[in-house]
Amino acid sequence: MEGMRVRFAPSPTGFLHVGGGRTALYNWLLARHSGGAFILRIEDTDTARSTQEYYQAIVEDLKWLGLDWDEGPEVGGPRGPYFQSERAGSYGPAIERLIADGSAYRCFCTKEELEERRGRAPKEGRDWRYDRRCLELADEERERLLKSGAPASVRFRVPDGATVVDDLILGRVEFDNSELDDLVIARTDGTPTYNFVVVVDDLEMGVTHVIRGSDHLSNTPKQVLIARALGGTPPTYGHLPLVLAQDGKVLSKRRGAVAIGEYRRSGYLPEALMNYLALLGWAYDGVQEIFQPDELVEKFEVGKVSRKPAAFDPDKLLWMNEQWIKSLPVSERTDRVLPFLTGEGLIEAGVAGEERDRLEKIVETIGDRLKTLNDITDQAGFFLASDVIYDSMSVKKVLAKPGADETLAGLQRILEGAPDFEPETLERIIRAHAQERGLSLGKLVQPVRVAVTGRTASPGIFETLSLLGRDKTLSRIEDARGLTNE
Ligand code: GLU
Repeated sequence: MEGMRVRFAPSPTGFLHVGGGRTALYNWLLARHSGGAFILRIEDTDTARSTQEYYQAIVEDLKWLGLDWDEGPEVGGPRGPYFQSERAGSYGPAIERLIADGSAYRCFCTKEELEERRGRAPKEGRDWRYDRRCLELADEERERLLKSGAPASVRFRVPDGATVVDDLILGRVEFDNSELDDLVIARTDGTPTYNFVVVVDDLEMGVTHVIRGSDHLSNTPKQVLIARALGGTPPTYGHLPLVLAQDGKVLSKRRGAVAIGEYRRSGYLPEALMNYLALLGWAYDGVQEIFQPDELVEKFEVGKVSRKPAAFDPDKLLWMNEQWIKSLPVSERTDRVLPFLTGEGLIEAGVAGEERDRLEKIVETIGDRLKTLNDITDQAGFFLASDVIYDSMSVKKVLAKPGADETLAGLQRILEGAPDFEPETLERIIRAHAQERGLSLGKLVQPVRVAVTGRTASPGIFETLSLLGRDKTLSRIEDARGLTNE
């Protein structure tokens, strides 16, 4: 639908986690799929818990994921401001309007009075809901209280009847209005409450569609009723089922919920995370698993989002990341691993020329061995660092075995005399040497592998030696001979 206006409205009271990332993504996909607008609104009215640090991190993570917004912080837009803390000017007049037309009323009940009546309700066999004492005040009494300066909150007067929400994901959900409290929309200090400001903002920003977690479902009938009382059309809602951890419990920080920023720092590709989050509750044909971002935009349909909770599977995400890394051309893969190598001090920032060519060759030789970009530091460390770190098990299993020193000495000799250090040349002379000595290639190669890489598993040995070059190869073999038993 052209003209869709969709928003993501995070509260900067914590980092963006998997669940929030998915909510942001689905809103973005809905907006991009329809050619509509994606709005970012920061719900920072909880000044005690909102911080600048969280706000910055959320914005950074959204950008990293590739979720750009058409209106909101940094980009502005015609319906701003996009921070709730700057929108007080909209809320006061809206509250006054509701009071004036009888949709809301002042409540002078004190906290103590409310608590006392709430405490009595169960004893009288009732659920507590606000008993509308202040709605029923005689006019003179209300005037008297107002004049006396008694603190007053403002309550929304929930109308009789039922409220139906035609949810894009859950289908038709009906709420009996008698179950709803006359909720407070402004506190005694005049500050508006969450359920109220969301409605005013959604209306003023012309929001047509809201995708959010089903933890907000109980707020929806209240928001729909307030929107109508304000003379507006409420947005169409879609409530996302929860994300569960592997043990079937709700995903939380303690149960495997990882901040989006953590994935960035540990070497996940934003495309892989986007891909994974898209499939966390949505499927295209149940078969295709790898989607380019623009393919997701093209194929995403909110109506196909599952009503069942989704299970977060970190292994699947890791697998997907691996597939994504594999699919990158070598030059791009090199660009992506660079920050991880510089971060570990394995190379200097801004490598160019021959050094860059060599790095690309290293990345090519490592091939499909990266599950995360960060794995590069482990896989390529021995190519780039000046010293090898010897794995003690590998030393014990290979270098400390009888004959290892002799094997290394033999290889040292033929490698010193190699006409060049191209992989094909090395393969030819090492194979010939193995044959001469009546050894299997494996037997011959394993000691040299441990000698130059520090361990028993590495990329192809001929490419590895070639990339290390003659000097490094020979000096490492010499060092390793100091670790043999001879
Ligand atoms: N600010 C709310 C939250 O972070 C979202 C509100 C909404 O989507 O309506 O949970």
